[in-house]
Amino acid sequence: MFLKFFLPLVLVLFACAPLRPLGPVEETPSTVPEQKKEEPPPPTPEPVEPDTAKKQIIEKTIDVGVGFEKRFAVIECPEKKWEFKAGKNSRTEIETKGNCTYAGKTYRGTWIVLSADTGVTIINHLDTEDYLKGVVPHEIGKLNAEGFEALKAQAVAARTYAYIHLGSRKTQGFDVYADTRDQVYNAKNDEDSLVNEAILATSNVVIKYNGNLIEAYYHSTCGGKTESSEVWEKESKPYLAAVLDSTEGGVFCELSRYKRWEEKFSKTELIKLFQKNATNAKADKIFPFSKIERILITEKFPSGRVKRLVVFTDKGSFEVFGDKARWLFQRAGKILPSALFSISQNGNDYIISGSGFGHGIGMCQFGVIARARAGQKFDDILKAYYTGVSVEGY
Ligand SMILES: [Zn+2]
Repeated sequence: MFLKFFLPLVLVLFACAPLRPLGPVEETPSTVPEQKKEEPPPPTPEPVEPDTAKKQIIEKTIDVGVGFEKRFAVIECPEKKWEFKAGKNSRTEIETKGNCTYAGKTYRGTWIVLSADTGVTIINHLDTEDYLKGVVPHEIGKLNAEGFEALKAQAVAARTYAYIHLGSRKTQGFDVYADTRDQVYNAKNDEDSLVNEAILATSNVVIKYNGNLIEAYYHSTCGGKTESSEVWEKESKPYLAAVLDSTEGGVFCELSRYKRWEEKFSKTELIKLFQKNATNAKADKIFPFSKIERILITEKFPSGRVKRLVVFTDKGSFEVFGDKARWLFQRAGKILPSALFSISQNGNDYIISGSGFGHGIGMCQFGVIARARAGQKFDDILKAYYTGVSVEGY
């Protein structure tokens, strides 16, 4: 039973996780929230372009960017096959009953195609609830009935994320990306009947703090304690506080294979990696060196995640901040699973021992699944991860 349920889930989460740090939230640089200041309540300002957001929420539709800078694109609908080429500026709206295919996936909704010299942008326009059907199964995996409350919690978090980001990519001509820069949207290819039921059962339900939609970040595995949004922003949002994800019985997300992890790097390997990764890790100084003398975590966030990591070399020292430390160790395309780690030395090797997967902010998906299986209801689960919020109809 365990293997039957858990292995496929791990595979699904793992498959979608490396870049992301999950959650929608995870992890490409562009998903990192902008450095916006938000006053503590009351009252809180509308987070994202309020006029556009409100208007679109009433409309209940979302524009998802699914293809970019294509020289050539084909959308095949049951009624007609459409072909587009980069070139003169133009905007084409395709009305269809749905079930069009683009780049190997079948989509609900209609289409907007923007052509320009730089390339073709393919936008899928659809009902937000239909969009969620392509997001939730990919983000948390397909669960059995025991996980129904987890699916509901994920549906509400994903809906809240979608609503607050309506209009947020306006300059590109759509609302959200279909990948880890926002939430991974896999069209109809991943749809699942139980997930669809969970979306329907929570129809119109969102998460609010002081009457405003929240930034509902989530991630795969917190490792025991979530992180405050201070990791990304100087002034953290009160509802994205660090919380314990455990009871006397243990850590909720302990079924994750990332509850504990270890990675080993040789000194020679790290010299190469650090020089290669310094830019992506936003190191404060970038210079050539031929020897690493010490690697020190000089400051940690309250959850224990790295706040400041300093590398001493034969040519001087440099440092990286917070979650970006994961990028400093990137090898073969993979960053460290989380910033909740310690470093030890063993001869010529550095051993990184860590917990968790993802940025650690907001809802912990493996924790959500465990809480649902333990009988917690979706709204209580959400309130456990987002401090001081209400779960209510929009
Ligand atoms: Zn957790």
